[in-house]
Amino acid sequence: MKVTDHLKQAQKPIISLEILPPTKGKSIDSIFSQLDAFMEFKPSFINVTYHRAEQVFKKRTDGTFERVDIRKRPGTVGICAAIMNRYGVDAVPHLICGGFSKEETENALIDLHFLGVNNVLALRGDAPSNEKFFTPHPHGHHYADDLVQQIADLNKGKYQEDDILDGVETNFCIGVAGYPEKHFEAPNMDSDLYFLKKKIDKGAEYITTQMFFENKHFYNFQEQCKQNGILVPIIPGLKPLTTKKQLTIIPSIFKVEVPIELSTEIMKAKTEAACDQIGAEWLLAQCKDLLKQNTPILHFYTLGKPHIVKKVLEQLF
Ligand code: FAD
Repeated sequence: MKVTDHLKQAQKPIISLEILPPTKGKSIDSIFSQLDAFMEFKPSFINVTYHRAEQVFKKRTDGTFERVDIRKRPGTVGICAAIMNRYGVDAVPHLICGGFSKEETENALIDLHFLGVNNVLALRGDAPSNEKFFTPHPHGHHYADDLVQQIADLNKGKYQEDDILDGVETNFCIGVAGYPEKHFEAPNMDSDLYFLKKKIDKGAEYITTQMFFENKHFYNFQEQCKQNGILVPIIPGLKPLTTKKQLTIIPSIFKVEVPIELSTEIMKAKTEAACDQIGAEWLLAQCKDLLKQNTPILHFYTLGKPHIVKKVLEQLF
């Protein structure tokens, strides 16, 4: 079922999860062991992130350099099929522009369609860790709106090769990312919203947000979207913050603010268990407030500390 249909048909608030493919070599069991624990909460869908390979330059014996992949997280397509097969829960693969040609993207979409996956979250991706700025694949997309266009075209049976034989129309429900605190590259919120609208105009049907630790950012974002004619459902992305290290890592990676009350409490905590407790209570309070405002869905970034998310869900539902 499509994400938008889950939202339309929900009689009460629903939840969804996001997981990360395991690094190369690990088995699907590492995913299942994480997800098994969440099935009692009946997640409506599970997002599976997509990652370009991490690369380094290795010196050859002749003094020249070669680029080698040092870490891969393969298998988003396969993991989605495995999740749907094991749990009967819809999977939402993420597709990114970075590192992929349009042809490779088309092949991934054909595989997903073949497997009965009819949701996809279309993203640009970030620059690899050894590069400062995002550079598109020479035959790929520069921004997520172009990827949205490619998927929307495929939904109309338009493939990269005009003369393709037996090119069926796919039926993907396309989601995109939104940033309540602005995407870090956008010069201002207006510009970011302008390009977000472009993604919707090209065929995206809903938005999933970057994590936020103060709900006011989400409510302001909802309002700004409305004012800019962005009327699709907006799914709030939520993550527990439970370590002192995350106080600097999260703002530096995701460019979001950690409120002073939360950072002060975490800094004061003496043990890991105390940090977990503070993070869980904060997330619980955020969720309760969102539900009070009639938010129909809560989307959890479960990577890292799934037991905290589980604990919060136990208290919520
Ligand atoms: P875009 O929508 O392309 O926007 C990127 C920037 O360019 C923005 O500042 C925007 O304002 C601007 N812009 C957009 N279109 C144009 C245009 N046509 N011309 C000029 N400027 C433009 N990353 C991964 O690698 N894998 C994942 O699985 C993944 N999952 C994510 C899930 C969610 C819910 C979120 C919020 C992020 C996720 N990311 C993931 C991170 C994401 O790839 C990065 O935040 C990336 O920097 C931007 O992606 P985007 O799709 O929002 O890009």
